[in-house]
Amino acid sequence: MKEFDMEQENKESLEKSCECSVELKKELKDKEQLLNAIFQVTNVGICVTDESGSFTIVNDAYCKIYGYTREELVGNHFTKIISEENCEDARKAHDKFFNEGFEMGREWSVITKDGRVLNVYSSAALLKQEDGKKYKVTTINDITEFKETHNKLNLVAYALSSANDGIIFTTANPSEILYINEAMVKITGFTLEELEKQPGGFLKTGPEDHSFYADMWAKIEKEGFWQGEIRGRKKNKEEYVAELNLNRITDSDGETTNYVAILNEITEKKKVEKRIQYLATYSSITNLPNRQHFEGTLSKAIKKHENPHGKLATVMVDLDRFKNVNDNYSFAMGNKLLRAVAYRIRNTLKDIATVAYLGEDHFGILLDQVLGMNSVCNVTQKIKQALSEPFIFDNVHISITASIGVSFYRRESKGSEDLISHAEKAIAEAKRLGGDCMQVYTIEMNRKLTRRSQLENDLKTAIKNHELFLVYQPQIELQKEQIIGVEALIRWKHPTLGMVPPDEFIAIAEETGSILPIGQWVIKTAAEQAKKWETMKLPIKKVAVNLSSVQLKHDHICKVIKEILEEVDIKPDSLEIELTESTMMEDIKKSIDIFNSLKQMGLKIAVDDFGTGYSSLSYLRKIPINKLKIDRSFIMDLGSDFEGSVITKTIIHMAKNLGFKVIAEGTETKEQIQYLRENGCDEAQGYYYSKPLLPAELEKFVLSKR
Ligand code: C2E
Ligand code: CA
Ligand code: CA
Repeated sequence: MKEFDMEQENKESLEKSCECSVELKKELKDKEQLLNAIFQVTNVGICVTDESGSFTIVNDAYCKIYGYTREELVGNHFTKIISEENCEDARKAHDKFFNEGFEMGREWSVITKDGRVLNVYSSAALLKQEDGKKYKVTTINDITEFKETHNKLNLVAYALSSANDGIIFTTANPSEILYINEAMVKITGFTLEELEKQPGGFLKTGPEDHSFYADMWAKIEKEGFWQGEIRGRKKNKEEYVAELNLNRITDSDGETTNYVAILNEITEKKKVEKRIQYLATYSSITNLPNRQHFEGTLSKAIKKHENPHGKLATVMVDLDRFKNVNDNYSFAMGNKLLRAVAYRIRNTLKDIATVAYLGEDHFGILLDQVLGMNSVCNVTQKIKQALSEPFIFDNVHISITASIGVSFYRRESKGSEDLISHAEKAIAEAKRLGGDCMQVYTIEMNRKLTRRSQLENDLKTAIKNHELFLVYQPQIELQKEQIIGVEALIRWKHPTLGMVPPDEFIAIAEETGSILPIGQWVIKTAAEQAKKWETMKLPIKKVAVNLSSVQLKHDHICKVIKEILEEVDIKPDSLEIELTESTMMEDIKKSIDIFNSLKQMGLKIAVDDFGTGYSSLSYLRKIPINKLKIDRSFIMDLGSDFEGSVITKTIIHMAKNLGFKVIAEGTETKEQIQYLRENGCDEAQGYYYSKPLLPAELEKFVLSKR
């Protein structure tokens, strides 16, 4: 508040003017002119109102603020420029001013002639004149723009201080901080004061070296900004990671005025990313790199594999019968074992190889720069050694072996998949050989495996496509040299591969289970053939069929045979079942049961390949056998090899004593036949008499012998 006592001043000036000279009068005149000029030129709106509330004087600025002309205001009541609803208050304020002689400076809003609302700051002073008249001199400042800017700045300040991103403003000197927000405190753990004291320094606490920051500043100076990830240390020495946006601000002349840094901390995000990355590339069961990781490492190794002296090898380890651990104990136990195996393998090879867990019970090992087969063998030997001690978990002892497959990188290898799949093929081969051994992938192995998988696949449709047929090999009674029966032997004429020997495809059929339908087809076809010959009244008393161990294990074998016999309507004793000695001994109890049932049905049973297995005489007595077939290997040696002759003689002797018939297979020469006959062998089968024949050929053979 300011009271401008004009009355007093006028009085004094009058007194003075009495004595003053013309010069002084002139000076006064000049001052008045000056004041008038200021009054009109100033941006501050000034008005003078009398006690009744009428405008007496207004300056240009006042008119401009309100949008009225001087004529529209002077002589009019001040409420002309006040909105209706505020009129009453304004009048009261006016009266109060003249009563009290002052008014507080205040901010308020006014409406202009054209209806705009303005924010103004006004203050007023009382002017008392000599004649006792009082005037109110009001100054008014349009602060609308200022207010808007102020409000905006308030908002910006709020946004800056409550932002999650750290924000720093500096002057043109990046070490001179103008502003730093709260988020920087949160990110770095330093207080605002500490941050201000070490300007920029806290950004350089990370592991990055001097050149990193030099490059950063070079880019900012050149392009005006830098964007990227930085690492720093918090006050508590923990590392943090942040995305930094650093901008250089320039004025219209291009001179740097400020730098603004915005820091978005991503430490947690990075940790989560790292974890996700870990989970995606490591196995949580074994903590070893997973298959994807392994393939990646392998691909990289292949790319940089330029050393012509070193070789790149993949070793795959597949635990034998691991499923039993899961089945006999639990999955948890299985996982424990995998973890322990992983630990042992990694521990053994930690300095020489990358070890990964590829899922299930498979481990992959990458050997970079091995010198050859010897060093690989050395490694596989170490693995075997590492797994040889039993694993002990809470008194449970588990012993495990592994099948190991090895593949070497070749120029023509297509990449990591090739190396892995080759090693897997080698494992399959090791498994086929019974496990607990190592196999190296070769082109020859691949050829065999490819053929195998083709046969495996094509066997499924061989019956339907009529590719299978039977040949029959005569069995001759030696005393009278008469045909008494035949052995049915299967043949497969593959549409593209030609004749595939039974020794090759029967094993595959056994592994894949297709031996069941094939075996059934053999029995039925042989039975039907026997029936035909019976109808033709040919002297073929029986047809022998070979039964695989897989068929024997199958519970329904007796039922299957029974149904075929009934369906074809032949006498059961026209069928003889041939089983190898080893098949019989595999599950002797079950064999005894099945043979008893077959015997009850009236079938005959022959032990094939006799002498090659480990027959127990006591068991032989318990099984209702009709005939022993002396294995071809002994017959081959007859005459030339003393041992073979003795064994043959002994088998014949033993068979007689036990009441079995005895037949020699693979007889090829007259001498063999003679020896067998002399030693009391009942029958013979072999090329000497005939190769296996098609039915029509066999019929001719029989008729020619009559
Ligand atoms: P196996 O049961 O021991 O059959 C005798 C094999 O010796 C037959 O071979 C036969 O052709 C051959 N052979 C016969 N006489 C002579 C001879 O004087 N000298 C020589 N070197 N070989 C002779 P094949 O037909 O190739 O059969 C091989 C094996 O395949 C059979 O041995 C048998 O284990 C299996 N097999 C054949 N047919 C079937 C079948 O229908 N079912 C099952 N499960 N296995 C069968
Ligand atoms: Ca046989
Ligand atoms: Ca045989």
